[in-house]
Amino acid sequence: MYLEKRCLVCPVGCILKIEKDGDSDYLIRGNKCGRGKDFAIKEMKEPSRVLTSRVILKNGPMSRLPVKTSDIIPQYLVDKCMEIIRTTEVTAPVKMGQIIIENILNTNINVVAARKVNSTNPRNLNSNSQ
Ligand code: SF4
Repeated sequence: MYLEKRCLVCPVGCILKIEKDGDSDYLIRGNKCGRGKDFAIKEMKEPSRVLTSRVILKNGPMSRLPVKTSDIIPQYLVDKCMEIIRTTEVTAPVKMGQIIIENILNTNINVVAARKVNSTNPRNLNSNSQ
């Protein structure tokens, strides 16, 4: 019995078939290169998590707002995504789960606020409670 997983290392996106081979080894099929095998083994031992980072926050009680991606970002896009996230500005108030960057790098994955932040601008006091 094997597990299927798409390789996220490069845009080819090979479908990897991963089978346990003994106590600690894995048999990998479907990979077009060695990086796919490394990816599969890493995913089995230490699966990827969503990307977390912080965007620039204006009118808030701190200078950066924690954000996370709504799904796992392909490995080959992580650096570009981090660059976009780090240079993105958002203005408080922000709701938890609010979309901060929609469809980042055409991945169909959104970057969302990981917490709620009220505005420190007195003009926005009414919108803080929404
Ligand atoms: S196995 Fe190799 S060619 Fe296939 S998606 Fe992964 S890195 Fe790309």
